[in-house]
Amino acid sequence: MTARMRQAVLSAPRSLELREVEIPTPGSGELVVRVDLALTCGTDLKTYRRGHPKLPFPTLLGHEYTGTVARVGAGVSAFREGDPIVAAPSAPCGDCSRCARGLENLCQHIDGSTMAFGAFADYLLLPTWCAATCSIARWGSRSRPAPCSSRWPAWSLGSSAWT
Ligand SMILES: [Zn+2]
Ligand SMILES: [Zn+2]
Repeated sequence: MTARMRQAVLSAPRSLELREVEIPTPGSGELVVRVDLALTCGTDLKTYRRGHPKLPFPTLLGHEYTGTVARVGAGVSAFREGDPIVAAPSAPCGDCSRCARGLENLCQHIDGSTMAFGAFADYLLLPTWCAATCSIARWGSRSRPAPCSSRWPAWSLGSSAWT
């Protein structure tokens, strides 16, 4: 029997469902992270209220978090199971004019296919492009929130409270 996990899915504006899905299996170069703490960013809130042009429904929320590497896919050597990490939600291309000016957060090539959302869940799959970049860093303490998150905790394992 396949292990299951909880995952929040936004199916429409203001329609957030808690689903039970299979824990993802990492492919080559990928990581599966156990989410230790995820916070609510303004982007999550705006997406919840009105949707987001780059995140078509149904979509996953939660992209500012800390976690622990639960499984590593083939070919992953920079991370091991048990590593505490923090990850950025997107991977800039590094080639466009904005990236060249140091404005990676405004990269012209970031869209829904290059964003790793879904931290409002027990586990999160970090795809190859994300796991392969420097947007993942080891984090010293599992109890600390992601550094650029808003103040309102939305998901904390061991608690079913949403705020
Ligand atoms: Zn954010
Ligand atoms: Zn770019």
